[in-house]
Amino acid sequence: MEEGAMSWGDYELPSVSSTFLRKARKDHVCCECRRTIEILATYEVHNACMDGSWSVFKTCGECLELRAKFQESGDGSYPIGDLVLACEEVDLIERGSYPPKASP
Ligand SMILES: [Zn+2]
Repeated sequence: MEEGAMSWGDYELPSVSSTFLRKARKDHVCCECRRTIEILATYEVHNACMDGSWSVFKTCGECLELRAKFQESGDGSYPIGDLVLACEEVDLIERGSYPPKASP
């Protein structure tokens, strides 16, 4: 059992990439829902080399759960940053219901 290994289903990863889980030591912004990943929250870091430059994508725990559901539901692939849209398209979540609004 690989520690921290995440399944990306049939999603084709770029040839140079790494994915791991990390605990936030400062605030980050989730690349899927655009919400703040708060300090001490566990989130996923995905480094990818695309077109010769490195990009870093951070995904919050809730979006990781949503992604797991999406991958279970069938298709399993979506462009990074479009998870919410992809889930809405297959009616996994109600349009506009995700991310839940943070209480003020
Ligand atoms: Zn998120």
